[in-house]
Amino acid sequence: MAPDLDDVLLLRAEAEAALRLHREDRRDEALSRAMDLAVTHNSSPLALILSGDLNMIAYCQNRRSDAALAGRQAKFAAACYKMSLDVVPGCVETFAAYGEALTALGMYRTAWDAFTRAAAIAHPADPAAHRLGYGRSSGSTKGERVEMAKAKLRRAIDCYANARCEDAVAEVLGAVEHVGAASAVHGPAKLADRFPSSARAQCLPAYVCLELSRGATPAATAKTLRRALAMLDNAAGSFDRSLMVALFRAKLLACLHDYDAAEVECRRALAVDNPDDPAAHDIPLGSVIGEEYDDRVSCLREQFIDVQKKLVLLAAEDWESMNCEKQGEILSVSIDKLHEHYSKIDQIAESTISDALRFSRRHESWRFWICARSSGHCAGKKFLDTASLLDHLCNKHPDELWENLESFLDPKLCENASQDGCSFDEACSEMQDLWLKFTKLSVFDYREAIMPLARMYQWKELKKCIAEDGSIAAWSVDAIFAEVSHAGEENVSAEHGSLDKNGHESGENQVTNKSDNLKT
Ligand SMILES: [Zn+2]
Repeated sequence: MAPDLDDVLLLRAEAEAALRLHREDRRDEALSRAMDLAVTHNSSPLALILSGDLNMIAYCQNRRSDAALAGRQAKFAAACYKMSLDVVPGCVETFAAYGEALTALGMYRTAWDAFTRAAAIAHPADPAAHRLGYGRSSGSTKGERVEMAKAKLRRAIDCYANARCEDAVAEVLGAVEHVGAASAVHGPAKLADRFPSSARAQCLPAYVCLELSRGATPAATAKTLRRALAMLDNAAGSFDRSLMVALFRAKLLACLHDYDAAEVECRRALAVDNPDDPAAHDIPLGSVIGEEYDDRVSCLREQFIDVQKKLVLLAAEDWESMNCEKQGEILSVSIDKLHEHYSKIDQIAESTISDALRFSRRHESWRFWICARSSGHCAGKKFLDTASLLDHLCNKHPDELWENLESFLDPKLCENASQDGCSFDEACSEMQDLWLKFTKLSVFDYREAIMPLARMYQWKELKKCIAEDGSIAAWSVDAIFAEVSHAGEENVSAEHGSLDKNGHESGENQVTNKSDNLKT
C-alpha cells in the first residue's frame, strides 16, 4: 500500500514548482496548480498543505475586497488541512493552520478545538516531512522546526482571540468616524473588558482617546494623551509581543515629549522574537501592509526605525538651535557625573567607571599594558609603560617572549627575520615593528571603554533638552499618526461591507474564558 518512491519524488517536484511560481509572483497560476495537485493527490499531506497555505494567503489578500471569494478560499484551505491531519495527526503547524482557516470562517468553537488538540500533542511530527520551504535553506534541526511550529500555533491562537472581536471593533470605529469620537467613549472600554485576550480590543480605548485629542488645546491634548498612554502601558504589560501596541505606545511617548522612553520602546520592539501577527492587532482594521506574516513584521520594523530616525533629526535640529554655552554643557561631561548616572542604572558600566577613576587618580594616566599571558600570576597585572612591560617579559617569560610575539603577529615576518639573506639592520627594524604591534595589542585605554558610556549619557541629555525646549516645534499628534489613520480610512469602510454577513455572537463568552486560560 505504501506509495511508490518515484511517485513521491515526482509529487514533491511538482509541488515545489507550484511554490516557485508563487514566489515569482505568478500567484493565480501557483494557486490553481496547487489546487489541482491537492485534488488528484488527496491523501498526500504535502500537496494538501501547500494548497491550504496558498489558499489562506489568497484569503488574506481578498478578505476586505471580495469577502465571498475569500470565504471560498478559506473553506478550501480548511478542508485541505483537515484531510492532511487525518494522515499526519501529530503536526502542530497543520493544526495551527487549520485553526486559522476555521477562524477565518468564523467557526470559533471548532478552531478552538483544533488549538487545544495541537497544544496537547506530546511528540510533535517534524513539519519538514510534509511541508515545503523547510530544511535545505534554513539548515534547522527537527527540534528548532518544532519550536517554530509552536510559535506559529501561539500566533494562530492570538489571531483567533482578535478575530472574535473584529466585527465589534469595526462597529466602534464606524461610530467614531460617523458620529465622532466624543459620542463613542463608553463602547471601547466595554469592548476591552469583554475581550481581555485581544490586544486590539485593549488598544481601542486609547485609539479613541487619540481621536478625541485632535484639534483640542495643547493642555487638553496632553491630558488626553497621558490617559491613552496609561491604557497602552497596561496593554503593553499583557501583550509584550505585539508590535502594534509597541508602535502605538512609542508614538504616544514621542507626542508627550518623552523621547528617551520612545526610543527605548522602539529598541525593545525591534528585538522581539516571533512577534504576534501585526494584522491581528491593527487599528484601523487593515492598516498594516504586507500579504504574508514576514512582510507585515518587516513593515512594522521599518516604522520603528523611522521613529528612531525622526528622533535623531529632531535632535539635530535642536542642536543647531542651541547656543554654544548649552552645547558645551552637553559636550563636556565630568566623569563623576557619569559615575553617578550609571550607578543608578547599570552595574557593569558603574564598575568600569569606578575602576578607571581609581586608576587615573593613582597613576595620572588612563592607559596601561597587560602581559600576554593573562593567566596565573600575571592576571590583572597592569604595566604603566612599555619599558616595564618589556622588563616583565624578559624577567618572567624569557623563553616565551619570542613565541608570544610570533603567535600574536604575522609568522611570515618572523621567518624573514631569521633568513640568511636578511641584513642585521633589516632584522632589527622588523623586530622593532613587531614590538610596536605587540605593544599596540597589549595596551588598554580606559577612555575607550568610557567613551561609549559618555555618548549614551549625552544622547540621553540631548533628548531631555529637546523635550524641555519649547522653541522647537515638537511632534504633533497629526504629524505622528497621520499616515496610519489615512491608510485606515478606506479599509474601515471596506470592513463595513463584510460586517453584516458574519455576526458571530453565540457562545462567545464560553470561548473567551477558555482562551484566557490558554494564554496565561
Ligand atoms: Zn607575565
